[in-house]
Order: sequence, then C-alpha cells, then structure tokens
Amino acid sequence: MNKTTLHWSYLNFKDVPMDLYLYEDLEEVYLKENFITTIPKWLLNVTTLKFIHLAGNNLNALPEEMYLLENLEFLDVSNNQIRELPKTIGLMDRLQRFNVSGNELTELPAEIGALKQLEELNLSKNHLKRLPIQLSECQRLHELNLSDNVNIWHIPERISYLPSLQSLSADRCALIYLPVALSKFLNHVRIFHNTSITHVPMIYEKFFQTFYDNRSKATPMSVSHDSFFWVLEKETNTSLLLPFGTRRIFSVPSLDNQVTLYDDCIRAVQYLGRFMPLWENVALKQMLPEKYIYDHIVNGPTARCTMFNCSNPLYTTYYFMAVKRRGSTSKQIFTCYFCSNHCANLWLMDNGKKYYQLDWEVCDL
Ligand SMILES: [Zn+2]
Repeated sequence: MNKTTLHWSYLNFKDVPMDLYLYEDLEEVYLKENFITTIPKWLLNVTTLKFIHLAGNNLNALPEEMYLLENLEFLDVSNNQIRELPKTIGLMDRLQRFNVSGNELTELPAEIGALKQLEELNLSKNHLKRLPIQLSECQRLHELNLSDNVNIWHIPERISYLPSLQSLSADRCALIYLPVALSKFLNHVRIFHNTSITHVPMIYEKFFQTFYDNRSKATPMSVSHDSFFWVLEKETNTSLLLPFGTRRIFSVPSLDNQVTLYDDCIRAVQYLGRFMPLWENVALKQMLPEKYIYDHIVNGPTARCTMFNCSNPLYTTYYFMAVKRRGSTSKQIFTCYFCSNHCANLWLMDNGKKYYQLDWEVCDL
C-alpha cells in the first residue's frame, strides 16, 4: 500500500492550503519553511495524518484540539514562536516523535507525562526553567534534548533514569551538578558547557574524556540552600556540590553503617509506591510524616549506587568517594556514591589500580 505524502515545503504559503482535502488517505505532509501562522481547525479532521512537518513557520500556538489527529505519530513544529503547549497535548496517544525546538516555551504542562508512546522529545532552544517531574512517566522516551535552555539548573534524577532513555543532551544550560541516577543503558550524553559543574559522577566516565579535560574552569558559585550539600575536596581545594536532597554522607571506608529512621521511612514508601505512582496515591500521601519527605520522594532518589551490579536507589544518606585517575593530569574529579560500605569496598577492590581516593570534608558555604 502506498502512503500519500505531500511535499509542500518552501512554497511561501501563508495558510495551509485547503487543497489538502483533495488527497485521500493522506499520511504525511511537509510544510517546512512557509509563513503559516495557525494550524486550521479543518486540518484536525484529516485523521489519516501520521506525520506533519511544520518547522520554520510563524506558529505561536498549537490548537487545543490537536489531539483530534488521533493517528499522529510525528510532529515537528521547531523554529516557530510557540509560547505554550496546550494541556490537551497528553491526549495525543500515538505521538512518538515531537520536536518543539527553537520556540518560546517557558514551561511544559504536566500532562506531557501522559504521552506513553513518546520516544523522541526535542525541547532545545527554548526558555524552560524546569522540567515537570511527570516527564518521567514517558516510559518509552528514548531521546531527550534540552540543550540551550539557559535557565535549567537541575535535571530531576527520576527523569535521568527513564528505562528506555538512550540519549540525553543538555549543552549550554545552567546545570549546577549532574544527575547521578543515569540509566546504565544510556549510550549518549552531552552535558557540556554548564560552567558551574565542579565534578563528574563516575557514571559519566564512559562518555568523557577529551571534553571534560578541556572544559572551561567551573564558575565559582555561592548557592546556599537547605537542600544542597557541599564538601571540600582537599587536594585541589574544590568545593563539590552534591545532589539535591542529600542530607548526610559517610566517608569510605567507614564503619558508620547506621540507617536512620528517615531512610527506612522513605524506603518503605518507595516500596509501596511501586504499585501505584506516589503522586496518584492519595492515601499514601496522607500517611507521610511531613511534606518535606514527600517532596524528596516525588523527586526520586538523589543517586544510584555506583556499584554496577547493585545500582540501588539512594535517597538522603549514602557513602561517598571522590577519586582521580592515577597518572592523569586532568583537573577532573569523579565522584562515586554507594548504598553501603560493602559496595564501596567491592568497587575499590575492582578499581583501586585505576583510581585513587581524594580526601574531603564536609563544608558550609
Ligand atoms: Zn550498592
């Protein structure tokens, strides 16, 4: 069966031509680089459409009823002037590839989390300040591009360990530390030119090295916030900012193996939350001792255990190690996060020839 495709790019159209109605079983339409200002309502009746390319037009919004295109799998509206996405975006059940790069977005609707088929999402070159945690519900998301959103300072851990995520780009954002819960299956990461980053979690080592060796020096920061945790690495006198949510760290090797009630509580809630996402579970939410803990859980673990075979989620307390490659002249500091003293020692046994530990101490900035 031949699908019908219309090639109507670069034709100076100011509107989508009504002639489009003349084509039966239309599946793909290219309307790149025209001067189209709106997606007309009548177009939403052409429900055979699977593919629409509208890059480089003058759109400033998507229609609320966009979801009527119930078979749409591909939508490219990059390089337009779209200011916000309709909440109804979550109703686009079949959408797999969505490119909204180069627009004027400052926020994403939480409903984007309902796009269960979404595989590729390009949000680069917008003005986003944060990502909705619900993005972590897009379980098939394979490729996520956030580059050039100069106000994004934090990628929620829960988003960075999406099970299908293979590629994550966040160049030229304002990240102040890197997420350490990255999926171990991730095979492409670009998080360059975020000049405030002081160290690289071990999990990034496979993506590095030339870039990180050549990166510009970290911009000194004076962040003071209850949820941050600073340690001072003594060899290079660098202050390292630990992941959002970190409350306590134990040095390795350490006999200090206590588990606080706080951690126990979080783990129990996480276990229950597996059966139903926490934010949907009203009863569970009410049982929580304080909103503070709830926020931590909603934002996911702060890290994953660096031991490859373990990868346990880490919440508020963990074992910490700062290391450098032996013989390397790079200024780069790697950091490791472990669930237990046991995992930390196993890791050291395997990697002690390649890396040496750096001394550090907790510091207040
Ligand atoms: Zn572990």
